[in-house]
Amino acid sequence: MAIRKMTDLVGSTPLVEVEGIPVPHGSRILAKLEMWNPGGSVKDRLGIRLLEDAFERGLIDEATTIIEPTAGNTGIGLVLAAKKFGLQTIFTIPEKFSIEKQVLIEALGGKIVHTPTGDGMKGAIEEARALQRRIPNSYVPLQFENPINPSTYYETMGPEIIQDLEGGRIASFVAGAGSGGTFIGTSAYLKEQDDRIRTAVVEPEGSVLGGGPAHDHETEGIGMDAMPAFMNAGQFDSVYTISDGKAFHYVDELAKKSGLLVGSSSGAAFAACIEEAAILPPGSTIVTIFPDSSERYLSKNIYQKENQKI
Ligand code: PMP
Repeated sequence: MAIRKMTDLVGSTPLVEVEGIPVPHGSRILAKLEMWNPGGSVKDRLGIRLLEDAFERGLIDEATTIIEPTAGNTGIGLVLAAKKFGLQTIFTIPEKFSIEKQVLIEALGGKIVHTPTGDGMKGAIEEARALQRRIPNSYVPLQFENPINPSTYYETMGPEIIQDLEGGRIASFVAGAGSGGTFIGTSAYLKEQDDRIRTAVVEPEGSVLGGGPAHDHETEGIGMDAMPAFMNAGQFDSVYTISDGKAFHYVDELAKKSGLLVGSSSGAAFAACIEEAAILPPGSTIVTIFPDSSERYLSKNIYQKENQKI
């Protein structure tokens, strides 16, 4: 077997058919297992590209400190990618996000600055900018505005899905949005291949895409207080707003019936796929993304029964 480098392990994740849970109209749901990435999430793809791009554009050098607001997974992706270049990293993280992601960031050598949960991602973004003003030679890639974010998924996730399907047709692509990069980049690529593919974005209750009021939620990694710069309503055919109870219900089902250990954003994505299957012709294929693993949320009692009320 060929010897590989860590950075070679990012991407080329498996696309699996989710078995064991009945899908309306005999359709099938295929999921990209992003916990297969070396840092354990979909954001490893982004970490390396954000840094490569900043070097290519002359925005950073070997002595730059990277600062980024994150719910945790982008932090893990960036701190791993930073090893390649020997860069220091600081992450601004709202307090509520899981301790496991934060422990992993620190284990990998990243520093963490907490921001109040009530200030949301906006608070973490403001804190990152404040740190940037104070720390000489520092750089904030800012996933929420950086066009490299959607283009990373356009260049990697989209082509991988088409390759994995080996000529098979998909009816819908359904995926969650936090920064929106995964959804926007992947759906743009898929629509270019076949403009009949429906694209549906998934958010938790408390996120603003479907038009409801912004409020806190337990589902981690997806949901937004404002539409990101690179996203607009013309880029999706539907929005599924999924309650925490439903997301956690499917986290449990996916473990017990399908043997898949997934985080709550995957549970929400799967719940949306089930709703999508109900409006598609029989025998359709739906592709979704499972962004990370439940092992990242065990301290939050992800499998506790009272979470799972539909
Ligand atoms: N799920 C999880 C667990 C995440 O950490 C993220 C990234 N915040 C997403 C989904 C959504 O990815 P994106 O930022 O590309 O919309």
